[in-house]
Order: sequence, then C-alpha cells, then structure tokens
Amino acid sequence: MNLRGLTMQELTEEMLALHQPKFRAKQLFQWIHQHRVVNFSDMLNVSKELRASIDAAHTLTQLTITERHLSQDGTEKLTMTLEDKSVIEAVIIPDKKRITLCVSSQAGCPLNCSFCKTGHLGFLRNLTVAEIVGQVYAAQKIVEKQERRITNIVYMGMGEPLLNTGNVIKSIQILTDDFGQNFSNRKITVSTAGIADQLHQLGSETGVNLAISLHAATNELRDKIMPINKQFPLEVLMKAIREYPAHKRKKTVLEYILLKGINDSAADAKKLAKITHQLDAKVNLIPFNSFEGTSFEASSEEVVLAFQKLLVDKHITAIIRTARGDESSAACGQLGVLSHKKS
Ligand code: SAH
Repeated sequence: MNLRGLTMQELTEEMLALHQPKFRAKQLFQWIHQHRVVNFSDMLNVSKELRASIDAAHTLTQLTITERHLSQDGTEKLTMTLEDKSVIEAVIIPDKKRITLCVSSQAGCPLNCSFCKTGHLGFLRNLTVAEIVGQVYAAQKIVEKQERRITNIVYMGMGEPLLNTGNVIKSIQILTDDFGQNFSNRKITVSTAGIADQLHQLGSETGVNLAISLHAATNELRDKIMPINKQFPLEVLMKAIREYPAHKRKKTVLEYILLKGINDSAADAKKLAKITHQLDAKVNLIPFNSFEGTSFEASSEEVVLAFQKLLVDKHITAIIRTARGDESSAACGQLGVLSHKKS
C-alpha cells in the first residue's frame, strides 16, 4: 500500500490497525505530505521499530519524471511514467505572482470530445490518489529550486476528473490538509466536461472552484462535439451548476473554445450570453490549439475579439485565455502527444 495516497482519516485508521496512537498518523502525514520524504528512514521522530514495521507493508512510491520540456514563455511540461508504464503529463504555468500547476486525473480519457487531442488517444485508466498528489510534489520540488512555490492547482490535464471523483476528492483533501501542503480550496479548480451527477459530491466534499468545458450553447451542437452531452444535456448540467455548493462564493467559469465556423458566430455568442446570465457565471474564451489529424481550425483573432465584445456588451466577464506552452504541446487539449508517440 502506498501511504502517499491515504487521507489523514485513512492514515489514522491504518495506524490504529497497527495498534499505534492517533498522533502517529499526524506525524507520518507531516513527513509524507509536508516534508515530502521518500524514505521511511527519514522520519526522524518515528521510532526505528515502527518505521521498520511500516516499511515492511507500505511504500512511499514517487512519480518518475521521464521528460521535462521548457517553453519559451516559461511553461514547463513534465512527462511522468507510472509503475505500469502509463505516461501522464503535468504542466507548470508561471505567471507574475502565481505558479499554476495543471494536473492529470486519468491516463488518457474516455470522453472523446472531438476537438481534444487526449480524447483521440483513448483511455487507459484512472489515476490513483498517490499519482495525483505525486504530480504536485514532483512539480513543487522543481519550483522550490527557483525559490518559488506552486500557488494554484487546476485539474485540467489529461482525463476527466469527475469520472475519477473518489480519487480526485481524496487528492484535494490531502492537498488542503493543514498537516500537508495546506493549499486553500479557493486556489484549486476542477474542470469538467459536465458529469452533472458528480458535481454535488465534489462541491460538498471539497469546496473547490468549478470550471465547465461548455464549448457549445445548444444541445444540438454540443451533442456533436462532446458526446457526453447526450448523457447530461445542457438543462441537466445547468441545474447541477446552479446547485454547486461553491458557485455562490465564486462564479463558475464556462470554458469555450472558439472553433472556426462551428461555434463562433454572433448568434452563438448570444446563446452563450443567455446561458451565462442564467447561471450567473463568467466565460473563458479559449483559442483552439491545433494538432495533427484534426479538421477543426481556430477562429481568427478578429472573430475572437468580436465574440468577446458581444459578451462584454451584455455585461459578462469574458476573458480570452492566452495559449501557453504551445510549442511544446503543453497547451490545453494537447496533452498526450508524447505518450502517443511512445505507445
Ligand atoms: N476533462 C476535463 C479536463 C481536461 S480538458 C474537461 O473537459 O474540462 C481541459 C480544458 O482544455 C478543457 O476546457 C478542454 O475542453 C480544453 N481543450 C481540449 N482540447 C483543446 C484544444 N484542442 N484546444 C484548446 N483547448 C482544448
């Protein structure tokens, strides 16, 4: 059992099963998640005997970074190989004040959104809790060398977080624990393609910010480009967003990739505005990142700006997300390029 994947509560139960007092769990949790030790022998205030007995049945396996690629804009893509040789990616995105880490929740993705590179690669498996938090620790180690820290985490890498809800929630509970990295849930955002029936659990158990990959403002178009819409159509998704526990504290972000001739007309902007008003949300407009084999094209800058203006004129907060890390295929929807080449 990899202890790195246990929440404080689970670790406490594990210690009790070993006839250890409760405070041992806190000590171990601190060593694993605050100091990020990789050997039981580094846990200085834990007796040798206990270390040896834990060591026999437990591991602290870390992720191995197999490739690092730094883009000119400072974005760094980390490729990591898991124990079963699956390959996942995480991306460090530095800004002036913030350093955001984009983490993966699955190896591959089963959703098959037509504009997304990861979807085209197919699905391997859900990531474990240890593999999700491990991405944060691997990245933290890198940025600490620059005397900085990861400030924000977005679940926007490979995979659909809400098809791995249990592990995603536990990973957030570990990352926000006072005895661990102590991230605020306000600095964590989970992005979903709209698995509506999981939103309540995510929100009530973590309180993290929500981003929805909307990309189309009618069921007709959304059915075509995001097959998951057939299972959770817009009206069902919108109801779940309205009821999302943290929605009132912080506006939900609707992500909208602008695809030339598909969803970028003035009529599309009007429909998107209506939905955004109904949800009291805000919009992130995302330039489409192209990849080999796709027939989609990015809308021109002129069209993107006109689309944004139509939303802003209706008093909607609509920002254009700048593409980051494009040249290393680290941008959104491009993750999985390296694993594809290797497989
Ligand atoms: N499955 C989750 C999280 C991963 S995708 C979700 O769908 O939200 C993270 C973001 O990248 C999503 O908004 C996704 O729609 C977007 N994305 C996917 N492919 C893209 C592409 N080719 N260009 C730009 N953004 C893309």
